[in-house]
Amino acid sequence: MKVQKMMKKLSVCIILFYVVSHFCLGRQNNGPVDKGIWKAAYDLYKEQSITHRRFKHKDILPLIEKRQFGDVYRVTKLGSSIEARDIYQLGYGQGDIKVLLWSQMHGNESTATMALFDLFNFLEAGDDEFESIRQTIREKLDLRFIPMVNPDGAEAFIRRNALDIDLNRDAIQLTSPESVILRKAREDFGPDFGFNLHDQQIYYNVERTPKPATISVLAPAFNYETEINDVRRRALQVIVGMNGLLQEIIPGHVGKYDDGFEPRAFGDNFQRWGTSAILIESGGYPGDPEKQYIRELNFIIILNALYEIAQASYTQYEVADYFAIPDNDSKLMDVMLRNVTIKRDDLEYMVDLGIRRREIEGEEGYYTESSIIDIGDLSVYYGYDEIDAEGYVMKEGKVYEKELNALPSYEETMDMLKKGYLWLRVKTVNNSIHQLPINIFQSTGDLKAGAKLGSKANFLLEKEGMVHYAIINGYLIDLRSPKDQNIQLKIQ
Ligand SMILES: [Zn+2]
Repeated sequence: MKVQKMMKKLSVCIILFYVVSHFCLGRQNNGPVDKGIWKAAYDLYKEQSITHRRFKHKDILPLIEKRQFGDVYRVTKLGSSIEARDIYQLGYGQGDIKVLLWSQMHGNESTATMALFDLFNFLEAGDDEFESIRQTIREKLDLRFIPMVNPDGAEAFIRRNALDIDLNRDAIQLTSPESVILRKAREDFGPDFGFNLHDQQIYYNVERTPKPATISVLAPAFNYETEINDVRRRALQVIVGMNGLLQEIIPGHVGKYDDGFEPRAFGDNFQRWGTSAILIESGGYPGDPEKQYIRELNFIIILNALYEIAQASYTQYEVADYFAIPDNDSKLMDVMLRNVTIKRDDLEYMVDLGIRRREIEGEEGYYTESSIIDIGDLSVYYGYDEIDAEGYVMKEGKVYEKELNALPSYEETMDMLKKGYLWLRVKTVNNSIHQLPINIFQSTGDLKAGAKLGSKANFLLEKEGMVHYAIINGYLIDLRSPKDQNIQLKIQ
């Protein structure tokens, strides 16, 4: 308790320091705010009820409903999804510059939705160190937020809606009610700026670097010629400001998305219809499987961008600096093993192996399955987990001889791995998903191991007769110093 109090005092001091230094050192109303101020705001106003990226529509409903009768937000029900989940809009501010922000039109892309609820907490607070920022936003901007455009997709944690339609290819055809809602929200409002908030695969890297593209940006094209008019220029400039801030926080982790024109997409059409459209894609960051750090980054760059729009400080940025942002690439693997020796019959050769895992939504939660994506010279690829396995020989794992009555402990599992066991039969289990670094099966599951392209990654790496690494369905386990990882495997 005492420690907590001290921490609180300390954080208030830090915030005061930032605010005082910011406003007294003459950077007022002129360009981006120091990142420390936004960080302090996030720490204070983060929405505590959302803690992971698989939250559902029912989790955000109370957060919207409680604001329905307050005097800060103008809450409007815009309509319902195919499966009758209500889609809401929250309005804020009385300014002349109209900004529309919408998130999660792809149901499994939830990072920015979390950040929007953090923003709602921030914007409705008052009487604190941030009040002048808030006041500027309120007086200059007319904001409308639509969090979770695709609640049915969010429910199943899939990209598409309940009709299996990709809403971001439905901006013209308007087959889905969710697309109609978003299109109408734009037409009714006529926003000057639009923030189109998505997630991208964690395998995107910043070109020719091992760094994940934690945030990717795009000012979508409005025609095939990818021309720049005043509308698109404003979006490009806002992005330059966002990138400047991000480079201070996560240097080298920002990639520019391909600006090929997609005539069916919302972002491209917003730009065409006269709204400066800004696409933010949340990718991956090492050690952040639930994307809580990336959520914080979203909060920071969106709030900063709104403040820059409110002050028109984004107009100082050069369009050329947008095009200097490196491109996205897709060269990341979950696990990259370099220079592994494989012995097959009389052959012995050395290769790199790239492994990715994919998440599958199950009845009792999600689990992952791995695949060997590529074999050979993978020097242009990178891994979240990466080892130089020179001198290591790939070995097949064994099935544990005894059937166990229940799941082993973590320590027992590690002992089995060290002895070369990768599979284990268990009689009774409570849940079909487990977190142990071993393959568990109840039936005579598929135990095919090895280094076949496209197969599941299950094998050992041995050096001088000692097993140092186990690869368990795409998870790399260093047996000498195992690290904490978020293992989710299905019992077969
Ligand atoms: Zn998306």
